Amino acid sequence: MARFKRILLKLSGESLQGEQGYGIDVKRLNEYAEQIKEIADMGVQIGIVIGGGNIFRGLAGAGKGFDRVKGDQMGMCATVVNSLALSSALDSVGQKNRVMTAIRMEPIGEFYNKWKAIEAMQQGEIVIFSAGTGSPYFTTDTGSSLRGIEIEADVMLKGTRVDGVYTADPEKDPTATKFHDITYEEVLSRNLKVMDMTATAMCMQNNLPIYVFNMDIKGNLKRVLDGEEIGTLVHN
Ligand code: UDP
Repeated sequence: MARFKRILLKLSGESLQGEQGYGIDVKRLNEYAEQIKEIADMGVQIGIVIGGGNIFRGLAGAGKGFDRVKGDQMGMCATVVNSLALSSALDSVGQKNRVMTAIRMEPIGEFYNKWKAIEAMQQGEIVIFSAGTGSPYFTTDTGSSLRGIEIEADVMLKGTRVDGVYTADPEKDPTATKFHDITYEEVLSRNLKVMDMTATAMCMQNNLPIYVFNMDIKGNLKRVLDGEEIGTLVHN
């Protein structure tokens, strides 16, 4: 039995770039698709949000002189590009899936609808929610909190390149220690960078737990669903 019945999986765009340092690393993409297929085969209902940081971030664009709203729209389009790539990789491993978009852009994806998404997931199809919230000044962390709450997911699984939440950034501070679990309140009071504040507050207010784990190690997604304690649980 899988630990969760319905999940919202958040993948960062940046992870998709793999060792290339930019764009989409096909090896990483295919590894993700295989890991996702593995848990779909366990009967887990899966919604996915993927970021766009490997292509464009509105805030970084604004720093270079881009209009912020247009930059954010470019960022949202980047998430659509990544979602289509993931959809195609899932097709290749024989996993049924569909892309929904928060901004109308048929025929690239179906316009987001909560009930259609739930119906598809109940029938074993994975739904990839692209274009974030559809609005500028948000991130895909907020997009995944929103979708996770809407689709009534049991948990948001945040697949990152670190294996959980630490007292400080483990890539910068070697003395940092990992939490087995932590409350949202503590995340906020310690100013830990698990997600941005808007996303954290949304999960906290709506009681959606987050499990942070390292998605870049093959088999880890299944380990989480098998109940292995390899990451950090953030909860109320
Ligand atoms: N974005 C947005 N609204 C949303 C979600 C995303 O404007 O609801 C834009 C924003 O510019 C963001 C970019 O899309 O920087 C890419 O998303 P994000 O930075 O969250 O990607 P990640 O860091 O997960 O790769």
